[in-house]
Amino acid sequence: MRCKICQNEFVPDKYHPNQQSCSSPKCQKERQLQNERIWRSRNPNYFKCLGQESAWKESRYRYNKLWRVTHKDYLRNYEDSHRQQRKEYMREYMRRYRGAKIVEQAV
Ligand SMILES: [Zn+2]
Repeated sequence: MRCKICQNEFVPDKYHPNQQSCSSPKCQKERQLQNERIWRSRNPNYFKCLGQESAWKESRYRYNKLWRVTHKDYLRNYEDSHRQQRKEYMREYMRRYRGAKIVEQAV
């Protein structure tokens, strides 16, 4: 196994067979920094949320508003298709409801 950082040969820890870097303090530190960088790039809003929450919310709000404006047709179509679905659902529901009532009356 070759260390990803210093390129030296090393034997992975038996408890960590997927280890990518050797156990030298320098490489461990570098590995930690890399992990942190990766984590930060995957969670770009984590630190923004601390202390800048309102700014983040504001930009979020603006973004959503913009999205709604630019996707007007999409939203309208979505609503239309769902109105149809809801209608069908209610029709089915009422049919079953009436069916249950008839059974109730028969008993
Ligand atoms: Zn190393």
